[in-house]
Amino acid sequence: MKRGDFSVSVTKDHLVFSSAHFITFAGHRCEGLHGHNYRARVTVEGALDEEVWFVFDFVVIKKIMKRLCDEIDHKVLLALENPKLQVAECGDSVTVAYEGKPRYVFPKADCALLPVPNTTVEMLAELLAGRFRAELDAMGARGLTAIEMEIEENFGQSAVYRVEVRT
Ligand SMILES: [Zn+2]
Repeated sequence: MKRGDFSVSVTKDHLVFSSAHFITFAGHRCEGLHGHNYRARVTVEGALDEEVWFVFDFVVIKKIMKRLCDEIDHKVLLALENPKLQVAECGDSVTVAYEGKPRYVFPKADCALLPVPNTTVEMLAELLAGRFRAELDAMGARGLTAIEMEIEENFGQSAVYRVEVRT
């Protein structure tokens, strides 16, 4: 009998990042700066490794995810690809303008400049899935078929991004 499919999932109390952000909406509405205690959950789908009988080592997944969360923990998350926002580095500061009007100045060390069009949980999930995948590629992971990343910004309020991979 053919075996079914397996996946492994990790979400932990330490896979969180407490970060500030704001998003822009359709038209001319822009949120004020506020924060979330975001939490990440990653699921890896793939073939069972029949030497060890698991899909992927939990320890490795946790280590990668912890690093990815730490990179953006206690930062102001700023979207670099939002046409309504002008984000510029200026010495030790980052200035942010909305539709050409100056809005914020942050210390550069407190900012995470992200290649996303808006810091929605959808875009954060896609970004972290891509970074997670790059880490797996770099370590030569084999046999994986999909990565799913869920980012929760409030209890019961999250977005999921899933991408098929071939490793
Ligand atoms: Zn928010």
